[in-house]
Amino acid sequence: MRLSIVVPCYNEEAVIELFDTRIRETLHALSVDFELCYVDDGSSDRTLDRLRSLAEGREASTRYVSFSRNFGKEAGILAGLKETTGDAVVIMDADLQHPPELIAQMLDLHRTGYDQVIARRTREGDKKLRSAVSRLYYRVINKWVDVELTDGVGDFRLLSRRAVDALLSMPEYNRFSKGLFSWIGFDTVTFDYRNAAREAGETKWRFGALVNYGMDGLISFNNRPLRLAIYMGMLLSAIAVTYAGAITVMAMIEGPQVPGYVTLLVAIVGLGGLQMLMLGLIGEYIGRIYYETKQRPHFLVKETNAPRAFGVSPTEGAASAESPAAAVIPRMEIR
Ligand code: UDP
Ligand code: MG
Repeated sequence: MRLSIVVPCYNEEAVIELFDTRIRETLHALSVDFELCYVDDGSSDRTLDRLRSLAEGREASTRYVSFSRNFGKEAGILAGLKETTGDAVVIMDADLQHPPELIAQMLDLHRTGYDQVIARRTREGDKKLRSAVSRLYYRVINKWVDVELTDGVGDFRLLSRRAVDALLSMPEYNRFSKGLFSWIGFDTVTFDYRNAAREAGETKWRFGALVNYGMDGLISFNNRPLRLAIYMGMLLSAIAVTYAGAITVMAMIEGPQVPGYVTLLVAIVGLGGLQMLMLGLIGEYIGRIYYETKQRPHFLVKETNAPRAFGVSPTEGAASAESPAAAVIPRMEIR
């Protein structure tokens, strides 16, 4: 059996070598045949240099691909998965927050027949407010989305070859991994682990990015918010008709009532706000359709030592044999 490890790296120069050492130690101890598939997500530091030297002389076990710019972690995972040839694949972060030691446990569970083995981090040691917000978010979102999303479950998991193939068969441009993993199904098992602190470097998540990510989760896997817009519209129309009826009756009984501009103002502002919100929501979906119809590639490759995986014939890449710098593959598009 061959195990592939997919590692998206964005500005990880501080930790990537440590990661490489640790993961090799772990996998050697497990005496499993493995390959490391690094993805440099357009880092602006020396991550790519580090990857080049890590891969040098170990082409069979170490592959890397470097993007032309930062395309985001989702694209990184996708490229990494494309690169893999193993019978099982583990996706993990470069910062050692996903303890390599857990791979042993994942493999054991995989051998008992599971296609997806998920490591769920406990919220132990997190900031109280942050974990309360996440818990609330997941409770709300699971009422709405069509797939099951679980708090603490991230990208750290083992996937069988057929699960990887299933993921790769989904060409959508907006990739919300958490949802995709859940959508493909297969026999899945989850176990808990305690998240480690980042070994070096810093997190790429800012508060705004988290909020956006949360929106993605809500929009990516259902059209219920659109339904909600319809129901809300119906409800408000019903209220308006009733109110108009009541006012007409009142006017007939007591004559016209002039006061009431507050009600009017509240109604106008309230409805205006609601309309904006719904328009924004619809716009969000249309925006997604727009991106899907463009059919752009998920990422562009600047350089790789695994040209075959990205649809380039080996001879084109072979020119690179003498110097790593010549491995640059210009004008290559991947979808
Ligand atoms: N990452 C990436 N592209 C990005 C942002 C992050 O490939 O645009 C990688 C990063 O190098 C790391 C993993 O995704 O291996 C998780 O990122 P990070 O540790 O910053 O997130 P956190 O653990 O704080 O959620
Ligand atoms: Mg991290």
